[in-house]
Amino acid sequence: MDASAGPGGHAGPRQDAIACRPGCAACCIAPSISSPIPGMPDGKAAGVPCVQLTADLSCGLFGSTQRPSVCASLAPTLDMCGLNREQAFATLTELERLTCPSA
Ligand code: SF4
Ligand code: SF4
Repeated sequence: MDASAGPGGHAGPRQDAIACRPGCAACCIAPSISSPIPGMPDGKAAGVPCVQLTADLSCGLFGSTQRPSVCASLAPTLDMCGLNREQAFATLTELERLTCPSA
């Protein structure tokens, strides 16, 4: 996997881009995803691990055209990912609360 990519290849041109932490997957668990995911046709709820996560918390759809575009376009940044997994979960959970109050 590209070391600069998120689980299964989150990547982007942002100046504050950082390398994705192996074994994190906070962005595949904490946020809700409204677009269909193979195995989760209605997307997923906040806090629910994506069914496509592998045992080592990578994306099983990396490189596949079935991977939701929202996943491929999500770039790891210090703001989102923080310095550790706990910070990433806290930030993403708060972001979800702010953007999806019903979640
Ligand atoms: S939250 Fe950031 S560091 Fe964690 S898996 Fe997602 S992109 Fe990688
Ligand atoms: S499809 Fe892959 S990148 Fe998207 S949430 Fe699921 S495991 Fe994460």
